[in-house]
Amino acid sequence: MHKKLLQQVYSSSDFNTNGHALIDQLTAHLEDKLNGKSPNAIHWNDPEDELQFWKDFLYHGNSKNLFQEINKRTTHIHHPNYLGHQVSPPAPITALTGLLSSLLNNGTAVYEMGMSSNAIERIIIEAICNKIGFNNNAGGFLTSGGTLANLTALLSARKAITKKDIWNDGNQNQLGIMVSDEAHYCVDRAARIMGLGDQGIIKVPVTKDFAMDIHVLEAKYQEAQESGIEVFAIIGSAPSTATGIFDNLECISEFAQEHNIWFHVDGAHGGAGIYSEKYKHTLKGIAQADSVVIDGHKMMMMPALTTALLFKDEKNAKATFSQKADYLLTDSEHEDWYNSGKRTFECTKNMMAIHWFTLLKLYGEEVFDANVTLLYDLGSLFADLIEAEPNFELALRPMSNIVCFRYVNPNFNFEEQNNLNIKIRHNLLEDGEFYIVQTKLKNVHFLRVTVMNPFSTEEHFKALIHKIKAYVMR
Ligand SMILES: *Cc1c(COP(=O)(O)O)cnc(C)c1O
Repeated sequence: MHKKLLQQVYSSSDFNTNGHALIDQLTAHLEDKLNGKSPNAIHWNDPEDELQFWKDFLYHGNSKNLFQEINKRTTHIHHPNYLGHQVSPPAPITALTGLLSSLLNNGTAVYEMGMSSNAIERIIIEAICNKIGFNNNAGGFLTSGGTLANLTALLSARKAITKKDIWNDGNQNQLGIMVSDEAHYCVDRAARIMGLGDQGIIKVPVTKDFAMDIHVLEAKYQEAQESGIEVFAIIGSAPSTATGIFDNLECISEFAQEHNIWFHVDGAHGGAGIYSEKYKHTLKGIAQADSVVIDGHKMMMMPALTTALLFKDEKNAKATFSQKADYLLTDSEHEDWYNSGKRTFECTKNMMAIHWFTLLKLYGEEVFDANVTLLYDLGSLFADLIEAEPNFELALRPMSNIVCFRYVNPNFNFEEQNNLNIKIRHNLLEDGEFYIVQTKLKNVHFLRVTVMNPFSTEEHFKALIHKIKAYVMR
Protein backbone atom coordinates (compact mmCIF):
# COMPACT_ATOMS: atom_id res chain seq x y z
CA MET A 1 0.00 0.00 0.00
CA HIS A 2 2.82 2.40 0.93
CA LYS A 3 4.75 1.64 -2.20
CA LYS A 4 1.72 2.30 -4.34
CA LEU A 5 1.10 5.67 -2.77
CA LEU A 6 4.70 6.65 -3.33
CA GLN A 7 4.59 5.51 -6.92
CA GLN A 8 1.68 7.85 -7.36
CA VAL A 9 3.60 10.72 -5.74
CA TYR A 10 6.52 10.23 -8.11
CA SER A 11 4.47 9.62 -11.25
CA SER A 12 6.26 11.34 -14.10
CA SER A 13 3.14 11.42 -16.21
CA ASP A 14 1.23 13.26 -13.43
CA PHE A 15 4.14 15.65 -13.27
CA ASN A 16 3.84 16.25 -16.97
CA THR A 17 0.09 16.81 -16.88
CA ASN A 18 0.16 19.05 -13.81
CA GLY A 19 3.20 20.88 -15.12
CA HIS A 20 1.64 21.76 -18.44
CA ALA A 21 -1.55 22.87 -16.72
CA LEU A 22 0.40 25.04 -14.30
CA ILE A 23 2.44 26.65 -17.06
CA ASP A 24 -0.78 27.43 -18.94
CA GLN A 25 -2.25 28.91 -15.79
CA LEU A 26 0.80 31.04 -15.03
CA THR A 27 1.05 32.19 -18.65
CA ALA A 28 -2.53 33.42 -18.47
CA HIS A 29 -1.67 35.05 -15.12
CA LEU A 30 1.26 36.92 -16.67
CA GLU A 31 -0.78 38.04 -19.68
CA ASP A 32 -3.48 39.23 -17.36
CA LYS A 33 -1.28 41.04 -14.84
CA LEU A 34 1.68 42.51 -16.71
CA ASN A 35 -0.46 44.87 -18.77
CA GLY A 36 -2.89 45.52 -15.94
CA LYS A 37 -5.79 43.90 -17.81
CA SER A 38 -7.13 42.42 -14.61
CA PRO A 39 -8.31 45.19 -12.30
CA ASN A 40 -6.65 44.30 -8.99
CA ALA A 41 -3.15 44.08 -7.60
CA ILE A 42 -4.50 42.31 -4.51
CA HIS A 43 -7.76 40.68 -3.44
CA TRP A 44 -7.57 41.48 0.22
CA ASN A 45 -8.91 39.05 2.82
CA ASP A 46 -8.79 39.38 6.58
CA PRO A 47 -6.32 36.87 8.05
CA GLU A 48 -9.02 34.97 9.97
CA ASP A 49 -11.14 34.55 6.83
CA GLU A 50 -8.13 33.36 4.89
CA LEU A 51 -7.31 30.84 7.57
CA GLN A 52 -10.85 29.52 7.56
CA PHE A 53 -10.81 29.21 3.78
CA TRP A 54 -7.73 27.00 3.82
CA LYS A 55 -8.96 24.89 6.72
CA ASP A 56 -12.09 24.16 4.71
CA PHE A 57 -10.13 23.64 1.54
CA LEU A 58 -7.92 20.98 3.05
CA TYR A 59 -10.97 18.80 3.68
CA HIS A 60 -13.52 19.89 1.13
CA GLY A 61 -11.69 21.71 -1.63
CA ASN A 62 -11.25 20.26 -5.09
CA SER A 63 -7.56 19.52 -5.57
CA LYS A 64 -7.91 20.46 -9.23
CA ASN A 65 -8.37 24.07 -8.06
CA LEU A 66 -5.48 24.11 -5.61
CA PHE A 67 -2.88 26.01 -7.64
CA GLN A 68 -5.49 28.38 -9.03
CA GLU A 69 -6.74 29.22 -5.51
CA ILE A 70 -3.21 29.82 -4.24
CA ASN A 71 -2.56 32.18 -7.10
CA LYS A 72 -5.85 34.03 -6.64
CA ARG A 73 -5.12 34.56 -2.97
CA THR A 74 -1.73 36.20 -3.39
CA THR A 75 -0.50 39.72 -3.96
CA HIS A 76 0.07 40.12 -7.68
CA ILE A 77 3.58 41.38 -7.98
CA HIS A 78 3.52 41.42 -11.77
CA HIS A 79 0.63 43.89 -11.81
CA PRO A 80 1.70 47.45 -12.70
CA ASN A 81 -0.42 48.69 -9.77
CA TYR A 82 1.71 46.67 -7.40
CA LEU A 83 3.75 49.45 -5.82
CA GLY A 84 4.43 47.97 -2.41
CA HIS A 85 7.28 46.09 -0.84
CA GLN A 86 10.66 45.72 -2.50
CA VAL A 87 10.22 42.33 -4.09
CA SER A 88 10.83 42.06 -7.80
CA PRO A 89 8.35 40.61 -10.24
CA PRO A 90 10.61 37.75 -11.27
CA ALA A 91 11.59 37.48 -14.92
CA PRO A 92 9.50 34.49 -16.06
CA ILE A 93 12.61 32.56 -17.11
CA THR A 94 13.77 32.60 -13.49
CA ALA A 95 10.56 30.86 -12.46
CA LEU A 96 11.72 28.08 -14.75
CA THR A 97 15.18 28.04 -13.20
CA GLY A 98 13.37 27.92 -9.86
CA LEU A 99 11.57 24.81 -11.05
CA LEU A 100 14.87 23.32 -12.18
CA SER A 101 16.44 24.04 -8.80
CA SER A 102 13.50 22.56 -6.92
CA LEU A 103 13.35 19.36 -8.90
CA LEU A 104 17.09 18.69 -9.07
CA ASN A 105 17.53 19.77 -5.43
CA ASN A 106 21.31 19.81 -5.54
CA GLY A 107 22.13 21.31 -2.18
CA THR A 108 25.24 23.15 -3.37
CA ALA A 109 27.08 23.16 0.01
CA VAL A 110 29.54 20.55 -1.24
CA TYR A 111 30.79 20.27 -4.77
CA GLU A 112 29.52 16.74 -5.21
CA MET A 113 26.01 17.96 -4.43
CA GLY A 114 26.04 20.77 -6.93
CA MET A 115 28.76 20.61 -9.53
CA SER A 116 27.15 23.00 -11.98
CA SER A 117 25.76 25.35 -9.36
CA ASN A 118 29.09 25.69 -7.53
CA ALA A 119 30.96 26.45 -10.74
CA ILE A 120 28.24 28.82 -11.93
CA GLU A 121 28.16 30.56 -8.56
CA ARG A 122 31.86 31.23 -8.75
CA ILE A 123 31.49 32.86 -12.18
CA ILE A 124 28.63 35.02 -10.93
CA ILE A 125 30.56 36.12 -7.87
CA GLU A 126 33.58 37.11 -9.96
CA ALA A 127 31.38 39.11 -12.30
CA ILE A 128 29.73 41.02 -9.45
CA CYS A 129 33.05 41.67 -7.68
CA ASN A 130 34.42 43.10 -10.91
CA LYS A 131 31.44 45.33 -11.31
CA ILE A 132 31.77 46.64 -7.76
CA GLY A 133 35.37 47.55 -8.56
CA PHE A 134 37.06 45.01 -6.30
CA ASN A 135 40.37 43.52 -7.44
CA ASN A 136 41.37 39.86 -7.85
CA ASN A 137 41.57 39.25 -4.12
CA ALA A 138 37.82 39.56 -3.87
CA GLY A 139 35.35 36.73 -3.49
CA GLY A 140 32.09 35.75 -1.89
CA PHE A 141 29.07 33.53 -2.31
CA LEU A 142 25.33 33.46 -2.75
CA THR A 143 23.16 33.01 0.31
CA SER A 144 19.53 32.94 1.42
CA GLY A 145 18.54 36.55 1.79
CA GLY A 146 19.87 39.95 2.78
CA THR A 147 19.09 39.32 6.43
CA LEU A 148 21.31 36.27 6.61
CA ALA A 149 23.95 37.95 4.45
CA ASN A 150 24.14 40.95 6.82
CA LEU A 151 24.55 38.64 9.80
CA THR A 152 27.23 36.66 8.00
CA ALA A 153 29.11 39.81 7.02
CA LEU A 154 29.10 41.04 10.60
CA LEU A 155 30.41 37.68 11.79
CA SER A 156 33.24 37.99 9.25
CA ALA A 157 33.89 41.52 10.44
CA ARG A 158 34.09 40.42 14.05
CA LYS A 159 36.50 37.65 13.14
CA ALA A 160 38.71 39.95 11.14
CA ILE A 161 38.79 42.98 13.42
CA THR A 162 38.34 42.14 17.09
CA LYS A 163 41.39 41.41 19.16
CA LYS A 164 40.06 38.28 20.89
CA ASP A 165 39.30 34.97 19.17
CA ILE A 166 35.58 35.06 19.91
CA TRP A 167 34.66 32.14 17.66
CA ASN A 168 36.62 29.81 19.92
CA ASP A 169 36.78 31.54 23.28
CA GLY A 170 33.39 33.23 23.41
CA ASN A 171 32.72 36.88 23.93
CA GLN A 172 34.31 38.66 26.87
CA ASN A 173 34.46 42.28 25.75
CA GLN A 174 31.59 44.60 25.01
CA LEU A 175 31.68 44.85 21.22
CA GLY A 176 29.83 47.37 19.09
CA ILE A 177 28.83 48.33 15.58
CA MET A 178 27.82 51.72 14.20
CA VAL A 179 24.74 51.96 12.07
CA SER A 180 22.28 54.61 10.99
CA ASP A 181 18.96 55.10 12.74
CA GLU A 182 17.31 54.32 9.42
CA ALA A 183 19.07 51.00 8.73
CA HIS A 184 17.02 47.88 8.03
CA TYR A 185 15.84 46.21 11.23
CA CYS A 186 17.75 43.05 10.32
CA VAL A 187 21.07 44.76 11.12
CA ASP A 188 19.84 45.42 14.64
CA ARG A 189 18.67 41.82 14.86
CA ALA A 190 22.03 40.49 13.63
CA ALA A 191 23.83 42.53 16.28
CA ARG A 192 21.57 41.15 19.01
CA ILE A 193 22.06 37.59 17.79
CA MET A 194 25.79 38.24 18.13
CA GLY A 195 25.26 39.26 21.73
CA LEU A 196 26.04 42.96 21.30
CA GLY A 197 22.91 44.03 23.15
CA ASP A 198 21.50 47.56 23.26
CA GLN A 199 24.79 49.17 24.19
CA GLY A 200 26.61 47.47 21.30
CA ILE A 201 24.33 48.97 18.68
CA ILE A 202 25.56 52.50 18.29
CA LYS A 203 22.83 54.32 16.42
CA VAL A 204 24.03 57.21 14.31
CA PRO A 205 21.28 59.81 13.80
CA VAL A 206 20.25 60.84 10.31
CA THR A 207 20.27 64.28 8.73
CA LYS A 208 17.06 65.99 7.72
CA ASP A 209 17.51 64.19 4.39
CA PHE A 210 17.50 60.83 6.17
CA ALA A 211 21.11 59.89 5.39
CA MET A 212 23.55 58.88 8.13
CA ASP A 213 24.89 62.08 9.69
CA ILE A 214 28.59 61.69 9.00
CA HIS A 215 29.44 64.75 11.08
CA VAL A 216 28.69 62.95 14.32
CA LEU A 217 30.57 59.73 13.52
CA GLU A 218 33.73 60.75 15.33
CA ALA A 219 31.92 61.87 18.47
CA LYS A 220 29.82 58.71 18.56
CA TYR A 221 32.93 56.59 18.15
CA GLN A 222 34.83 58.37 20.92
CA GLU A 223 31.83 58.14 23.22
CA ALA A 224 31.66 54.38 22.62
CA GLN A 225 35.38 53.94 23.24
CA GLU A 226 35.16 55.86 26.48
CA SER A 227 32.43 53.53 27.67
CA GLY A 228 34.70 50.58 26.96
CA ILE A 229 32.99 49.42 23.78
CA GLU A 230 35.24 47.90 21.12
CA VAL A 231 33.68 49.10 17.85
CA PHE A 232 34.52 46.71 15.03
CA ALA A 233 32.25 47.67 12.14
CA ILE A 234 30.22 50.42 10.54
CA ILE A 235 27.34 49.76 8.17
CA GLY A 236 26.28 52.00 5.31
CA SER A 237 22.78 51.61 3.87
CA ALA A 238 22.49 51.68 0.09
CA PRO A 239 19.77 52.71 0.35
CA SER A 240 17.90 52.49 3.65
CA THR A 241 14.65 50.65 3.27
CA ALA A 242 12.05 53.12 4.53
CA THR A 243 13.18 56.18 2.57
CA GLY A 244 15.33 54.79 -0.25
CA ILE A 245 18.06 57.29 0.70
CA PHE A 246 21.73 56.34 0.28
CA ASP A 247 24.30 56.93 2.99
CA ASN A 248 27.51 58.64 1.92
CA LEU A 249 29.61 55.54 1.38
CA GLU A 250 32.75 57.49 0.55
CA CYS A 251 32.78 59.33 3.87
CA ILE A 252 31.89 56.23 5.84
CA SER A 253 34.71 54.32 4.17
CA GLU A 254 37.23 57.02 5.11
CA PHE A 255 36.01 56.94 8.67
CA ALA A 256 36.31 53.13 8.78
CA GLN A 257 39.84 53.25 7.41
CA GLU A 258 40.93 55.86 9.92
CA HIS A 259 39.79 53.70 12.81
CA ASN A 260 40.73 50.38 11.27
CA ILE A 261 37.21 48.99 11.51
CA TRP A 262 35.18 46.98 9.00
CA PHE A 263 33.06 48.81 6.44
CA HIS A 264 29.97 46.89 5.41
CA VAL A 265 27.54 48.08 2.73
CA ASP A 266 23.96 46.89 3.02
CA GLY A 267 23.07 47.18 -0.65
CA ALA A 268 20.28 44.60 -0.45
CA HIS A 269 18.01 46.94 -2.36
CA GLY A 270 20.22 49.37 -4.25
CA GLY A 271 23.49 47.47 -4.66
CA ALA A 272 22.23 46.47 -8.09
CA GLY A 273 22.86 50.12 -9.03
CA ILE A 274 26.45 49.11 -9.86
CA TYR A 275 24.95 48.02 -13.20
CA SER A 276 23.24 51.35 -13.93
CA GLU A 277 25.31 53.81 -15.94
CA LYS A 278 22.94 56.57 -14.89
CA TYR A 279 22.66 55.77 -11.19
CA LYS A 280 25.92 54.07 -10.20
CA HIS A 281 26.96 57.38 -8.65
CA THR A 282 24.57 56.57 -5.76
CA LEU A 283 27.10 53.90 -4.74
CA LYS A 284 30.26 55.98 -4.90
CA GLY A 285 32.71 54.52 -2.41
CA ILE A 286 31.32 50.98 -2.57
CA ALA A 287 34.62 49.66 -3.94
CA GLN A 288 36.22 50.57 -0.59
CA ALA A 289 33.81 48.34 1.33
CA ASP A 290 35.07 45.24 3.10
CA SER A 291 31.79 43.50 2.36
CA VAL A 292 28.69 44.19 0.27
CA VAL A 293 25.23 42.63 0.19
CA ILE A 294 23.11 42.66 -2.99
CA ASP A 295 19.69 41.00 -3.25
CA GLY A 296 18.87 39.43 -6.60
CA HIS A 297 15.20 39.26 -5.60
CA LYS A 298 14.87 43.01 -5.11
CA MET A 299 16.13 44.98 -8.13
CA MET A 300 17.39 42.16 -10.32
CA MET A 301 14.26 40.30 -11.39
CA MET A 302 15.02 37.06 -9.57
CA PRO A 303 12.86 34.96 -7.28
CA ALA A 304 13.43 35.02 -3.52
CA LEU A 305 15.79 34.28 -1.98
CA THR A 306 18.83 35.07 -4.11
CA THR A 307 21.47 37.16 -2.37
CA ALA A 308 25.12 37.85 -3.08
CA LEU A 309 27.57 38.55 -0.27
CA LEU A 310 30.84 39.93 -1.63
CA PHE A 311 34.14 40.47 0.17
CA LYS A 312 36.96 42.75 -0.84
CA ASP A 313 39.29 40.06 0.48
CA GLU A 314 38.11 36.50 -0.07
CA LYS A 315 40.19 35.28 2.87
CA ASN A 316 37.70 36.87 5.23
CA ALA A 317 34.82 34.98 3.63
CA LYS A 318 36.62 31.72 4.26
CA ALA A 319 37.61 32.55 7.81
CA THR A 320 34.14 33.40 9.14
CA PHE A 321 33.12 29.95 10.32
CA SER A 322 36.55 28.46 10.66
CA GLN A 323 37.66 26.98 13.97
CA LYS A 324 41.31 27.44 13.31
CA ALA A 325 42.67 30.79 14.37
CA ASP A 326 45.53 30.47 11.92
CA TYR A 327 43.22 29.77 8.99
CA LEU A 328 44.19 32.98 7.27
CA LEU A 329 47.81 32.01 7.22
CA THR A 330 47.63 28.36 6.26
CA ASP A 331 44.97 28.27 3.62
CA SER A 332 46.05 28.83 0.08
CA GLU A 333 44.10 31.50 -1.64
CA HIS A 334 41.70 29.66 -3.88
CA GLU A 335 41.64 26.30 -2.20
CA ASP A 336 38.29 24.63 -1.97
CA TRP A 337 36.23 27.31 -3.71
CA TYR A 338 33.90 24.59 -4.96
CA ASN A 339 32.75 23.53 -1.49
CA SER A 340 30.78 26.69 -0.80
CA GLY A 341 29.16 25.36 2.38
CA LYS A 342 32.33 26.09 4.31
CA ARG A 343 31.70 29.77 3.86
CA THR A 344 27.92 30.03 4.01
CA PHE A 345 25.68 30.02 7.04
CA GLU A 346 23.47 27.46 5.34
CA CYS A 347 24.42 23.86 4.91
CA THR A 348 21.91 23.03 2.17
CA LYS A 349 20.86 25.91 -0.04
CA ASN A 350 19.02 26.04 -3.32
CA MET A 351 20.67 26.46 -6.72
CA MET A 352 20.11 30.22 -6.73
CA ALA A 353 23.14 30.83 -8.92
CA ILE A 354 21.30 29.49 -11.93
CA HIS A 355 18.78 32.38 -11.89
CA TRP A 356 21.60 34.85 -12.08
CA PHE A 357 23.55 32.93 -14.71
CA THR A 358 20.50 32.37 -16.91
CA LEU A 359 19.63 36.10 -16.98
CA LEU A 360 23.24 36.91 -17.84
CA LYS A 361 23.44 34.25 -20.51
CA LEU A 362 20.12 35.09 -22.20
CA TYR A 363 20.01 38.87 -21.87
CA GLY A 364 23.49 40.06 -20.87
CA GLU A 365 24.50 42.40 -18.08
CA GLU A 366 22.56 45.24 -19.77
CA VAL A 367 19.35 43.73 -18.49
CA PHE A 368 20.26 44.81 -14.94
CA ASP A 369 21.09 48.33 -16.11
CA ALA A 370 17.78 48.46 -17.98
CA ASN A 371 15.76 47.39 -14.95
CA VAL A 372 17.45 49.50 -12.26
CA THR A 373 17.63 52.61 -14.42
CA LEU A 374 14.01 52.43 -15.51
CA LEU A 375 12.71 51.77 -11.99
CA TYR A 376 14.71 54.66 -10.49
CA ASP A 377 13.50 56.91 -13.33
CA LEU A 378 9.94 55.89 -12.53
CA GLY A 379 10.49 56.73 -8.85
CA SER A 380 11.52 60.19 -9.90
CA LEU A 381 8.50 60.52 -12.20
CA PHE A 382 6.16 59.51 -9.40
CA ALA A 383 7.74 62.16 -7.18
CA ASP A 384 7.21 64.79 -9.91
CA LEU A 385 3.52 63.94 -10.04
CA ILE A 386 3.20 64.22 -6.26
CA GLU A 387 5.00 67.57 -6.23
CA ALA A 388 2.58 68.91 -8.82
CA GLU A 389 -0.41 68.11 -6.56
CA PRO A 390 -1.40 70.91 -4.16
CA ASN A 391 -2.64 68.62 -1.37
CA PHE A 392 0.14 66.09 -1.54
CA GLU A 393 3.58 66.32 0.00
CA LEU A 394 6.80 64.36 -0.52
CA ALA A 395 8.74 63.28 2.57
CA LEU A 396 11.81 64.06 0.51
CA ARG A 397 13.01 63.92 -3.07
CA PRO A 398 13.72 60.21 -3.85
CA MET A 399 17.16 58.91 -4.77
CA SER A 400 15.81 55.58 -5.99
CA ASN A 401 12.48 53.89 -6.76
CA ILE A 402 11.23 54.31 -3.18
CA VAL A 403 8.96 57.33 -2.68
CA CYS A 404 7.40 58.45 0.62
CA PHE A 405 4.55 60.94 0.43
CA ARG A 406 1.31 61.90 2.15
CA TYR A 407 -1.95 63.67 1.69
CA VAL A 408 -2.15 66.96 3.53
CA ASN A 409 -5.33 68.63 4.68
CA PRO A 410 -4.39 72.16 5.83
CA ASN A 411 -7.21 72.18 8.39
CA PHE A 412 -5.98 69.08 10.16
CA ASN A 413 -3.68 68.91 13.17
CA PHE A 414 -0.72 66.54 13.36
CA GLU A 415 -2.71 63.64 14.77
CA GLU A 416 -5.60 64.02 12.32
CA GLN A 417 -3.14 64.22 9.46
CA ASN A 418 -1.53 60.93 10.48
CA ASN A 419 -4.90 59.27 10.93
CA LEU A 420 -6.05 60.42 7.53
CA ASN A 421 -3.06 58.79 5.83
CA ILE A 422 -3.50 55.61 7.83
CA LYS A 423 -7.09 55.51 6.63
CA ILE A 424 -6.08 56.17 3.02
CA ARG A 425 -3.68 53.29 3.03
CA HIS A 426 -6.17 50.94 4.70
CA ASN A 427 -8.80 51.88 2.19
CA LEU A 428 -6.43 51.19 -0.69
CA LEU A 429 -5.62 47.78 0.75
CA GLU A 430 -9.26 46.77 1.07
CA ASP A 431 -10.07 48.15 -2.36
CA GLY A 432 -7.25 46.19 -3.93
CA GLU A 433 -6.82 48.01 -7.24
CA PHE A 434 -3.44 49.28 -6.01
CA TYR A 435 -1.04 47.89 -3.52
CA ILE A 436 1.15 50.39 -1.67
CA VAL A 437 2.63 50.38 1.85
CA GLN A 438 3.32 52.92 4.58
CA THR A 439 6.05 54.06 6.92
CA LYS A 440 6.61 56.40 9.83
CA LEU A 441 9.39 58.93 9.54
CA LYS A 442 10.09 60.99 12.67
CA ASN A 443 6.55 60.18 13.82
CA VAL A 444 4.92 61.42 10.63
CA HIS A 445 2.85 58.83 8.85
CA PHE A 446 3.68 58.50 5.16
CA LEU A 447 2.37 56.46 2.31
CA ARG A 448 5.16 54.60 0.60
CA VAL A 449 5.49 53.49 -2.98
CA THR A 450 8.25 51.32 -4.39
CA VAL A 451 8.16 51.04 -8.17
CA MET A 452 9.22 47.45 -8.77
CA ASN A 453 7.50 46.75 -12.06
CA PRO A 454 9.12 48.14 -15.22
CA PHE A 455 5.66 48.24 -16.81
CA SER A 456 4.20 50.67 -14.29
CA THR A 457 3.59 53.95 -16.13
CA GLU A 458 2.58 57.56 -15.57
CA GLU A 459 -1.04 56.50 -16.22
CA HIS A 460 -0.96 54.00 -13.36
CA PHE A 461 0.56 56.60 -11.05
CA LYS A 462 -2.05 59.19 -11.99
CA ALA A 463 -4.81 56.68 -11.42
CA LEU A 464 -3.46 56.01 -7.92
CA ILE A 465 -3.32 59.72 -7.08
CA HIS A 466 -6.81 60.15 -8.47
CA LYS A 467 -8.06 57.29 -6.34
CA ILE A 468 -6.59 58.80 -3.18
CA LYS A 469 -8.16 62.17 -3.97
CA ALA A 470 -11.54 60.56 -4.65
CA TYR A 471 -11.35 58.80 -1.30
CA VAL A 472 -10.46 61.96 0.61
CA MET A 473 -13.24 63.97 -1.08
CA ARG A 474 -15.92 61.46 -0.19
C1 LIG B 1 15.32 44.01 2.03
C2 LIG B 1 16.45 44.51 2.80
C3 LIG B 1 17.10 43.69 3.73
C4 LIG B 1 16.63 42.28 4.03
O1 LIG B 1 16.87 41.43 2.96
P1 LIG B 1 16.05 40.06 2.78
O2 LIG B 1 16.55 39.53 1.50
O3 LIG B 1 14.60 40.45 2.74
O4 LIG B 1 16.36 39.19 3.95
C5 LIG B 1 18.19 44.19 4.38
N1 LIG B 1 18.61 45.44 4.18
C6 LIG B 1 18.00 46.27 3.31
C7 LIG B 1 18.53 47.65 3.10
C8 LIG B 1 16.89 45.84 2.58
O5 LIG B 1 16.29 46.66 1.72
